[in-house]
Amino acid sequence: MYVEDDYLMLSGLQHFVYCRRQWALIHIEQQWAENERTVEGNLFHNIAHDRDKTEKRGDVLIMRGLPVKSAALGVSGECDVVEFHKSKTGISLFAYNGLWQPFPIEYKKGAPKEHNADEIQLCAQAICLEEMLLCKIPCGSLFYGENRRRMQVDFTQELREKVCSAANEMHNLWEKGYTPKVKLHKGCNACSLKEICIPKLAKTRSPAAYIEERLKD
Ligand code: SF4
Repeated sequence: MYVEDDYLMLSGLQHFVYCRRQWALIHIEQQWAENERTVEGNLFHNIAHDRDKTEKRGDVLIMRGLPVKSAALGVSGECDVVEFHKSKTGISLFAYNGLWQPFPIEYKKGAPKEHNADEIQLCAQAICLEEMLLCKIPCGSLFYGENRRRMQVDFTQELREKVCSAANEMHNLWEKGYTPKVKLHKGCNACSLKEICIPKLAKTRSPAAYIEERLKD
């Protein structure tokens, strides 16, 4: 269990799973750079948060920008949207009659991806909600702007273990203040931090290798 002073940003988990170095540049070294994709992503998120904070549509209660935290993961942040569906097996909510089952939804500008960083971020939100509301949340949704569809994500034991292990690793790097070296991957081209990270340097020889080669000559 982490104490609140040690909490890291929940949204950082997504960066961390995508690229450890990107997370460290942003969260440890406080570096940031925008590109077209990050600006569009922020605008897209703002639309999700812009409407009324709480809305009721029939048997569904919709809450936007809900603050969440987890001592087990040591993270805090916000859920884009949490729907509470009226259900006999749900939980009670202050000021609302009946029982309600939480269902988190995370908004993403682009399309579903090959990696599971979005699923891990959403599952971390569910773990926070479970800890705060003392309930079980079996699934949630990712809403992708490109196809304007929801994709259901089941919070399996395997996904939950990946969230816990990523959160632990993130805390370890944070304590060490260590920025991992570049691991070139195809996402580097679209990364807004590539001018700061300079991934092409990963292909160059180290100074030690260069000196050794010259000495042999
Ligand atoms: S350029 Fe590549 S290695 Fe560097 S931070 Fe971005 S994604 Fe990570």
